[in-house]
Amino acid sequence: MREVLILFGMQGSGKGTQGERVKERYGKFTDIIVGQLLREKAKTDTEIGKYYDTGKLFPAEVVEPIIAEKINAMHGDERILFDGFPRNKEQLGIYKNLSDKYDFNTVALNILINEKESLERLSKRYVCPNCEYMKVGEGDCPKCGTKLELRRDDTDVNVIKKRIGIFKKDTQPVINYFKEKGELIEIEGIGTYDEVTERVFKELDKHYEPILAK
Ligand SMILES: [Zn+2]
Repeated sequence: MREVLILFGMQGSGKGTQGERVKERYGKFTDIIVGQLLREKAKTDTEIGKYYDTGKLFPAEVVEPIIAEKINAMHGDERILFDGFPRNKEQLGIYKNLSDKYDFNTVALNILINEKESLERLSKRYVCPNCEYMKVGEGDCPKCGTKLELRRDDTDVNVIKKRIGIFKKDTQPVINYFKEKGELIEIEGIGTYDEVTERVFKELDKHYEPILAK
């Protein structure tokens, strides 16, 4: 059996930040970022590199063994944190195969914000001019200490709108699958990061033992 946590949330939901805090609180999580795994693999594997060159979607036969390889390398009771996977019907098929193979015990967490909030938050994104780190709200870059700059770009808004559209069309049905299985936790995403974190911890404490005191 392998414990799995899947993070869902529309662009601007802050799921990346919440994921970091979850890892800190409960420990024993290994990130599996599928896009990143594919990018790494493409550097050394020319067959996989071809998909990037042609812009074609990665087929399941390519993606599944790459994720399996990562799981095979994990230690005994290490948990998986999937962020941004499965994001569509095809990836859900891959997930189901892996779930059968590795006997997943899954908790799916969806941080709920609506489209309007998503756009509003993303229009308050600050970017590090040095390392491109990005977050909602001003301050210094946590990675390199440079002062963050407000990012305002109209083409950006169109990209975001497109991504929101894809989320609603492709990812929402996947979320519904976990809901029907009774494996979905829905978290109200309104409020500060800290407020959302409190809600996330309250739910996840029912599933995982915190390694940090409150
Ligand atoms: Zn930086």
